[in-house]
Amino acid sequence: IIPENLSYITLGFRVVVPFGGRKVEGFVIDVHSEEIETDNLKAIIETVDDVPWFDEHMLLTSRWISNYYLSSMAEAMRLFIPGKTSIKSSKVYSVDDNAAKIDPKEFFADKPQEYVKIYEYIKEQGTSELTAIERKFPEAAKALNYLVSKHMLTVNAAFTRTGAKPLVRMGVKIAEDSRPFQLSQELKEVFKPIQLCFLQELAKQEFILLSDLPKYGITRAQIKKMQQSGVVAVEKRQLTRDSYAHLAKCEVERVLTSEQLSALGKITEVLEKRQYASFLLHGITGSGKTEVYIEAVAKARASGRTAIVLVPEIALTGQIVGRFRRRFGGDVTVLHSRLSAGERQDAWQKMREGSAGIVIGARSAIFSPVPELGLIVIDEEHEFTYKQEETPRYHTREIAFTRARLASAAVVMGSATPSLETYYTASAGKHILLTMLNRIEAACLPTVHIVDMREELKKKKRSVISQPLQKLLLETLSKGEQAVILLNRREYATFVMCRECGCVIKCRHCSTALVYHSTDSSIRCHYCGYTQKAPETCPNCKSFYIRFFGTGTQKVEEELAALLPGTRIARMDQDTTSRKFASDRILQDFAAGEQDILLGTQMVAKGHDVPNVTAVGIITADSILNLPDFRAAERVFALLTQASGRAGRGHKPGKFIVQTYNPEHYAIKAGADQDYHAFYTAELNNGRELLYPPFSNIIKFVIQAEDERAAWHKAEEFAREIRRTGKFSPEELIGPFASAIVKIKDIYRVNILIKTVKVAEIKCALKDILKKYNDIIVDVD
Ligand code: ADP
Ligand code: ZN
Ligand code: ZN
Repeated sequence: IIPENLSYITLGFRVVVPFGGRKVEGFVIDVHSEEIETDNLKAIIETVDDVPWFDEHMLLTSRWISNYYLSSMAEAMRLFIPGKTSIKSSKVYSVDDNAAKIDPKEFFADKPQEYVKIYEYIKEQGTSELTAIERKFPEAAKALNYLVSKHMLTVNAAFTRTGAKPLVRMGVKIAEDSRPFQLSQELKEVFKPIQLCFLQELAKQEFILLSDLPKYGITRAQIKKMQQSGVVAVEKRQLTRDSYAHLAKCEVERVLTSEQLSALGKITEVLEKRQYASFLLHGITGSGKTEVYIEAVAKARASGRTAIVLVPEIALTGQIVGRFRRRFGGDVTVLHSRLSAGERQDAWQKMREGSAGIVIGARSAIFSPVPELGLIVIDEEHEFTYKQEETPRYHTREIAFTRARLASAAVVMGSATPSLETYYTASAGKHILLTMLNRIEAACLPTVHIVDMREELKKKKRSVISQPLQKLLLETLSKGEQAVILLNRREYATFVMCRECGCVIKCRHCSTALVYHSTDSSIRCHYCGYTQKAPETCPNCKSFYIRFFGTGTQKVEEELAALLPGTRIARMDQDTTSRKFASDRILQDFAAGEQDILLGTQMVAKGHDVPNVTAVGIITADSILNLPDFRAAERVFALLTQASGRAGRGHKPGKFIVQTYNPEHYAIKAGADQDYHAFYTAELNNGRELLYPPFSNIIKFVIQAEDERAAWHKAEEFAREIRRTGKFSPEELIGPFASAIVKIKDIYRVNILIKTVKVAEIKCALKDILKKYNDIIVDVD
């Protein structure tokens, strides 16, 4: 019920409602005004914000997500809230009125000392939150329950808004009624030159933080004096946090190439008509796609509309953010999961108010609350990071289409290696295909050499770095040029094995091998985070013949250091990039020539543009091919194309070496040649034959239980129920079968797949069944 005092509540508000004994957050998704039976209804307690959080398009998009991805409406709506929830419910304790009638001395005489202390503490505080009490008295729960049951204390449900507080800081400004520049003669007599200098700077900057005063050589005492003479004023201001503030606007005029102009022209046409349309910008690496995005965004902004620019990886936003910042300055906000809660909140604030019209971010930025959306850019459209791997398991691309349709906006997807689905649907006319075939300034693609690692083995060469790659590295470095070396994370089994009995040390919570980290000689589980010291003897047979392999990158780094003494190597992998902006810094240093070789996992293949890089090597291209994933070949092809795209971006020609055990595999051949059409045709034929997407839709269910038998039992039951609907032919339902990783974090996992060509109808049937199985993970597409 909307109570009288909250009559302003409309669709889209976030509210606080009573739920059981707690207060929880709810969303207003519909408002009715007819007479209804109100006995069982409770009143809304309060609103979380002063204005509706969700606008009509956000609500419609949530509805669409819930239907398409078979998730609940609440799960879908939470995607639009930074930090997922905006209130935290808690318990608040205070002294019960009844306590006045009781003599505390007598009451507590036979109670533990702790009880008195807790009681006294709460009495002193007036009211106290459970968390605060527990911080002081970690074992308070029992005492609190007891005291409540004896009516010495009462407990109430309460809530607090989560999220960071606005950042308020003290600073100086020129006092409103001072006219320092007219008074300059007078000022010169009163103030020292350094203070005058500061005043000039202050007039320019308008507001300077007190904490920044030392930079100007000014003391607080001097500020006080200036304040007293009425020249400056000190005040509090709410600031917005922004880690990218140092990237200032500075325009570079570019003459677009004819390919760029033609692509931009088609996009502009749609933007001007304010119609929905989606584009696939298929351009080889270095063909200037980013420049097209920038100009398209400029067009959208010029007509007063906003833009969302999506990039695949949080860690690699640095270069693209830099380019947008230089062009658009403070109109650009950056969103990614490593922002502090405060930065995220401020970014949302700026978007809602319209003080920032361009959002750049990883997949969750698609949920940005921008008004007047005009354009969505999806850079590296094929990247797998656009798929969210937790419920609701959405694909960013699909959400982009939905939002853009509602807003009559344009979607521009760019890639050198479009996903099979996107290219296929583009060919079928669903997207407008734009092609860019040439590199900027006619830089040419690198020459490619495929090294068959089986031959290396035959020659008894056991180094992970083949002879040809060694030779290329020597050549490159001797010319003062730089190289990039890439390997897959799963490469070079980093597990711990006993050579005496063959035992592999596994995680006790997951069915996976523990991974050795030489930095602190620990072994860790990459699924649940379990860590222990690396053992000195085999836990199974007690032999000392237990061998550690360093993480893949560490091992290659050691080999490189031995092969090329004195070479400066930058390593970029999960270990070295866990801190915020760490990967940006590694890339910047490398681009500045401070390192000779950039060595790392997939991340080094993407998003950077260093003209002095003339050699790229892939240690083994194969390991992804063996993943149990029907998109494995696509991943390999994209990785090879991306990696080779790093070489020869300047005026010097590049060389690319691919080491592999499968030199005749079509994905490897086509990837090395950067031949998208060869790959696309082969892969599409496979898909058609095996009825994989885009020729069908796949829905995966993961059934979980702590007990292995229970998981199977539940899966069988679920499968039976699906069959009973009569909507499925037997071959459309696959499983139950065990997950590739049978156990994660002590939970067993069993899968069921549905592979179908009539997915819409099937989803309707599934929705009802799933209501009964709300702990099953559903993964659509
Ligand atoms: P892509 O995104 O397709 O890989 P980029 O947009 O990064 O390509 O362009 C590659 C390089 O060419 C960049 O250094 C970019 O600044 C430069 N560039 C792009 N367009 C032009 C142009 N029209 N004139 C000159 N340089 C350009
Ligand atoms: Zn584990
Ligand atoms: Zn052993």
